[in-house]
Amino acid sequence: MTTQYSYSYHKGDGKNKALLGGKGANLCEMTQIGLNVPPGFVITTETCIKYLDQGKLPHDLLDEVRLQIKEIEQQSGKQFGGTTDPLLVSVRSGSAISMPGMMDTILNLGLNKQTLNGLIELTGDSRFAYDAYRRFIQLFGKVALDIDDEKFDVHFDKIKRQAGIKADVALSSDQLKEISELFLKVVHEETGHSFPEDVYEQLELSIKAVFDSWKGKRAVDYRREFNITADMASGTAVNIVTMVFGNMGDDCATGVGFTRNPGTGVNEMYGEYLVNAQGEDVVAGIRTPKPVSELADEMPNLYQQLVVLRNTLETHYKEVQDYEYTIERGILYCLQTRNGKMNAAAMVRTSVEMVNEGLISKEAALLRIDPELLEQLLHPQLAPNHNNPSLAQGLPASPGAACGKCVFDADTAERLGHLGQDIILLREETKPEDIHGFFAAQGILTSRGGKTSHAAVVARGMGKACVAGAEDIAIDVKMRLAIVGNIHIREGDVITIDGSTGDIYLGRIPTIEPSFSEELQVLLGWADEIAEIKVHANADTPDGAKQAASYGAAGIGLCRTERMFNASDRLPLVIDMIICDNVEDREIALAKLFPIQRDDFQQLFAAMSPNPVTVRLLDPPMHEFLPSEHQLIEEIEALHEYEKIILGQKVTLETLGTHESLPAPFNHLNDEVINEAITKKQLMLKKVRELYEVNPMLGHRGVRLGMSYPEIYRMQIRSILEAAALCVKKGISVQPEIMVPQVITSQELKKVKAIVDQIQQEVESNYEIELDFKFGSMVETVRACTRAGDLAEYAQFFSFGTNDLTQATFSFSREDAENKFLPLYNESGLLQDNPFEILDVKGVGKLMKMTADLAHQTRPDIRIGICGEQGGHPQSIRFCHHIKLNYVSCSAPRIPIARLAAAHAKLLENEYILES
Ligand code: PEP
Ligand code: MG
Repeated sequence: MTTQYSYSYHKGDGKNKALLGGKGANLCEMTQIGLNVPPGFVITTETCIKYLDQGKLPHDLLDEVRLQIKEIEQQSGKQFGGTTDPLLVSVRSGSAISMPGMMDTILNLGLNKQTLNGLIELTGDSRFAYDAYRRFIQLFGKVALDIDDEKFDVHFDKIKRQAGIKADVALSSDQLKEISELFLKVVHEETGHSFPEDVYEQLELSIKAVFDSWKGKRAVDYRREFNITADMASGTAVNIVTMVFGNMGDDCATGVGFTRNPGTGVNEMYGEYLVNAQGEDVVAGIRTPKPVSELADEMPNLYQQLVVLRNTLETHYKEVQDYEYTIERGILYCLQTRNGKMNAAAMVRTSVEMVNEGLISKEAALLRIDPELLEQLLHPQLAPNHNNPSLAQGLPASPGAACGKCVFDADTAERLGHLGQDIILLREETKPEDIHGFFAAQGILTSRGGKTSHAAVVARGMGKACVAGAEDIAIDVKMRLAIVGNIHIREGDVITIDGSTGDIYLGRIPTIEPSFSEELQVLLGWADEIAEIKVHANADTPDGAKQAASYGAAGIGLCRTERMFNASDRLPLVIDMIICDNVEDREIALAKLFPIQRDDFQQLFAAMSPNPVTVRLLDPPMHEFLPSEHQLIEEIEALHEYEKIILGQKVTLETLGTHESLPAPFNHLNDEVINEAITKKQLMLKKVRELYEVNPMLGHRGVRLGMSYPEIYRMQIRSILEAAALCVKKGISVQPEIMVPQVITSQELKKVKAIVDQIQQEVESNYEIELDFKFGSMVETVRACTRAGDLAEYAQFFSFGTNDLTQATFSFSREDAENKFLPLYNESGLLQDNPFEILDVKGVGKLMKMTADLAHQTRPDIRIGICGEQGGHPQSIRFCHHIKLNYVSCSAPRIPIARLAAAHAKLLENEYILES
């Protein structure tokens, strides 16, 4: 069977985006549902890959292309290369996954000296024809012949300057003709050849160039940034479509629209258009377009047609569409449609509203949102009470506030961004080649272009703040300067932009965390109904617990008690406890800590009531609570110096015999206080030296501390159980869970459990209640995994500490790995992901699965969760669902993401493939 390289829009399978690309498939679909799409065909992505592999087009492709062109000629009545009614086409890229502006497109192809004359005769409009011609030469020159835009722009700008013209539309036919001729010369000078006159040669070169753009830097960077893998999109299709013109006069227009507002999600006509212009003018932001509502007055009949088009698209695709159209001499054509990229707030709102309108199911509403997108909803907003005056205003193009140093080009933004600086990228307008600057910047500000300009679309897709078309700002890239009135903003100056209002401010403005919208609550409620795996929070304070509860946490999966020890009112007590040399003294110090811990736990349990709270007993090595040896030596030296000063003060007082006229410091400290401080510091120093370990993270920490200093664990266990008892007495329902860290053997658990049992009895009898709580173990050592069956005899629950378990499995120290070699491993493909962010399912995951199986054999109803950082990552959550964990626990801001990911994991469980 011979391979079919291309499909006419009447015949292509509108569902096959992998083969026809998103744009091609949609053009087929739109044609076949009766929308007015200009005739055309699509060359498959497979052909692209074949071309890129073999370095040449398949030998029979061009024959097939000729047959397809014949078909278009029949449908349009025009002739490709014809001198009377010439067919002009666009050659457009389009891969399976939309990558807006990342690959190349050529317009007006088919123009040469003869067809140009034909076009002039046909339209009677030489200005229009030369305008099309000069655009074609430049775009073809840039894309197919690799000539820099600048080479053309100098001539264009010079003619405009000489004529004293600002807007391109003011150029006359003669001027455009002159420009076209100059452009033809540029091509000759740059390539050594004349501009190709043969229209099929033009077509062949363009097809190759569009295929090549799949491997271009922009496209490769974009795919890497958005993790677009070869199985998601492989190669670009090429669409060859009859040109329709929005720039043939005042009954022509071009526009782009969204079926709903992509900034807010509101169900309304949304978009912009330009009369007498080509599509590129709107997208590139060369002229500032008008809102579509004005079309209702300007061309009421066409506006009504556009409403019908919008409704048809949304009802058919059951998804918000981002569409492009052209009106040529009063006829509306739909040129393309794709699923609209929106910010998180708009995605959430449209999901909920489309379900309420009966357009989509709840499942579809959940699945259409990438869980990671919800992170945007936690983006800062400007503090509402700030009263900084706005310096200038542009269009609110992508919501959220951003603050940073002004930078005027993408390369500098990338360089400074890599150094960890906050950047605002300032451009007159952005182009696809600026994409690396977007990745590095916190926000984007342009002085030209509308809400559908390149800058706006890309920033929205990335969830970055963007203010577009701030026309009061004059940007001079060469001088690295932006001027607003008499204010000069230089590179490096800090500004703040508010992408929700379009305001621009000098300096840094305080920001506040946003709150949850009602729609998000509804959506996540649906997610919870579907998800099987629960989402808990890692939280250590009552405030943290309240925040986690407000984000919908179903419990606290990890409270690291050491974080409570670190608060400034406890640390001195903890240090006293550590420097003790005997148990009795340590018990005295612990007795002071006890009521504080008990109070903490009470508040924590109450904040999470009635949900479970897992409290982990002390984990880090004790030296972490003490200053470093170096610091202590310096402090002791300083105290000795001070001792001398005190002595000097004494001598002064004795000598002068009076102290009334002397300043305050002279009557404060005395030898005794200083000596006490020196003694304490020396004790600390002695302890620091005693506690020294070569590898503290693999040393005396976790349950090993509990074995050596059981009095510490005793105090913590008593605080937890008494806090629970006090809550119960107050009628607060609680579910405490006591968790032991760093366990390697069931004997450790047995010993801690014995302490728990004893304290439980005491508390129950003192408070005259029965306590309901669980006892369990972290699983974060490899031995714990291999002995999980034994551990489960004592543990009612397990929580995978995948931070430590990953370090142990890889034999990596996280800090060293991330600072030294992990980036290289990731970039060179030695490791696909950072295993400290995304669970290594092939290695660590295998241990987890084995652990869960062993544990279930001993205790079928054991509850198992994960509390390492990976627990908040959607990919890891899918794996955890797959091995049937009961819950994931993650930091509060990841909770909405994890809730949605948990629903996705359930909905997509049949598609889950675990690579071995
Ligand atoms: C872990 O090891 O995954 C864990 C949660 O503990 P920590 O990060 O506190 O060591
Ligand atoms: Mg750990």
